[in-house]
Amino acid sequence: MLRRMLRVLLSSVLLTVGLASASVVASAPAHADSCYTWGRSLSEGMAGDDVAQLQIRVAGYPGYGDALAIDGDFGPATAAAVSRFQAAYGLTADGIAGPQTFGQIYALQSPDCTPLHFSYGEMNQCNGDWSGGAVDPATAQYNELKTMWKLEALRHALGDYPITITDGFRSSSCNDDVGGVPDSRHLYGDAADMVPSGYSLCSLAQEARYHGFQGIFGPGFPGHDTHVHVDSEDYQNWSAPDCGI
Ligand code: ZN
Repeated sequence: MLRRMLRVLLSSVLLTVGLASASVVASAPAHADSCYTWGRSLSEGMAGDDVAQLQIRVAGYPGYGDALAIDGDFGPATAAAVSRFQAAYGLTADGIAGPQTFGQIYALQSPDCTPLHFSYGEMNQCNGDWSGGAVDPATAQYNELKTMWKLEALRHALGDYPITITDGFRSSSCNDDVGGVPDSRHLYGDAADMVPSGYSLCSLAQEARYHGFQGIFGPGFPGHDTHVHVDSEDYQNWSAPDCGI
């Protein structure tokens, strides 16, 4: 009798140890992501490059009319953006980036760090090498990376219907070829022209106001009746008169 009780007790101890180690494994980083792997949970008051990497990926969730600074400092605006990202994907919206949040980001990012539904190729239909714009090639490419993460948020908010990018970064000669304005944001690589499927251009332009785009031009603005332009210039500049913007 005693031996049997001991055996039951021992097996339940082993089971408990097994469960405990399983939960430790589950709360560690989900896997070594081939783009970027976070090594700690991040919350308000923390700082570092890992915070900046997180900010790039939640910059599409700043709230209406706002833009999130990619500065490596986890302040209240970053916490709010993390909460909105979490809510958008059905996670607990606590503003703390831990295993669940990072797991969602890993599921969304490609090995080259672009979000799942956008690519460097479609953001560079000009000369392919990011040169000849208003900033150095690395900056232009980095700016389009940040733009793509905002676009991923915009796309998700509108039901994950496909969005077709018709233009992104332009060199000066590409900008001249398409008749772009002299100081077009396309020269900086922080702009995208796009056409949605599944909903209207106006729905796209209206929703873009919630996802970190300081520049929005759409139907009713000269030259923008067949696409919506978004960018990340320093000040808010929105015009789509046919959409009430
Ligand atoms: Zn444009």
